[in-house]
Amino acid sequence: MEKRDYYEVLGVSKNATDEEIKKAYRKLAIKYHPDKNPDDKEAEEKFKEAAEAYDVLSNADKRARYDQFGHAGTQGAGGFGGFGGGMSMDDIFAQFGNIFGGHFGGFGGATGGRGRRQSKGSDLRIKVSLTLEEIAKGVSKTLKIPTYVACESCNGTGAKGGTAIHTCSTCNGSGTVITQRQTMFGVMQSQTTCPTCEGTGKTITEKCEHCKGEGVERKEQTISINIPAGVADGMTLRVAGKGNAARRGGVNGDLLVVVEEINHPELIREDSDVIYNLMLDVVTATLGGSVEVPTISGRARVKIAPGTQPGKILRLRGKGLPSMNGYGHGDQLINIMVYIPEQVNDEERAALEQLRNRDNVVPTEETKNRIFSKLNHMFE
Ligand SMILES: [Zn+2]
Ligand SMILES: [Zn+2]
Repeated sequence: MEKRDYYEVLGVSKNATDEEIKKAYRKLAIKYHPDKNPDDKEAEEKFKEAAEAYDVLSNADKRARYDQFGHAGTQGAGGFGGFGGGMSMDDIFAQFGNIFGGHFGGFGGATGGRGRRQSKGSDLRIKVSLTLEEIAKGVSKTLKIPTYVACESCNGTGAKGGTAIHTCSTCNGSGTVITQRQTMFGVMQSQTTCPTCEGTGKTITEKCEHCKGEGVERKEQTISINIPAGVADGMTLRVAGKGNAARRGGVNGDLLVVVEEINHPELIREDSDVIYNLMLDVVTATLGGSVEVPTISGRARVKIAPGTQPGKILRLRGKGLPSMNGYGHGDQLINIMVYIPEQVNDEERAALEQLRNRDNVVPTEETKNRIFSKLNHMFE
């Protein structure tokens, strides 16, 4: 099915504020909420569609990418999860916490959810510092991370070896109980984690001594992560299932890898372009020549044409960073400045004095206009 435009889904304009987007989503979420529309497939689809649109438009980074590339911009490169497409009901209810601020008891919120809900370990968040060179090529990092893993003595069950494990009688092993609540839409049913077994569906008779019945123990884990080329400072990569183990069984949480970019000593990053400020001496700028400049793939020689003006920008095509969405490479921009000698000796002074007021040295009105108009073009 062709995806609808996210702005259209929420019924807001392209330049809607965050508050307008939130308001529009809240309205739709209430209208199509599954508790209000039981067994209505169409309402459920609408509910999911709105949640996905909100997920993207409420995040400045995702929204910018969506504005630029459309739906393709929200798919994310390998290893990235949670970008638009394929939000589960659990994701959607988890998102509610931020929007409804807990006023909506009936909405299940973080603990509710629908259907069989396995207990899930908590997410782990780590920071990875990357150089511009690593970002340009993509990099694999091996990290040692202290993590809760399933207890080895009891296999994560929390029960002492050989002792009985029973199905929880409160929830019959489902791990959830149904509660009824009075809300602004009338009585609503919601599922919550079973208080007896804390969502595990099982009760134990004797606790494992090693983990004191928790089913988890803390261990340093060695984890390899592949970071795709083109990531940027502040981005979060989600590695599913590499977070903390859940208490007494259940699914692992995720590992959230937050990218931190180490500033390059000479190059400045601007999205997928890199900028280098080049200071030419006045003789090379006048007579032309060739100079060496740093790039993210090593040093490169660049030709300088005679009569190169300060403010001119040279472009090394494809020498920037790859775009994360596979839309090619950025460029390296060389921003030219010209150094005027701050001190000269007698000989240099005499040579320069000879040039004073020469036609070629003093720009005419026409020359000035030509150079200024070129400079102005660069900012368009
Ligand atoms: Zn144990
Ligand atoms: Zn239970």
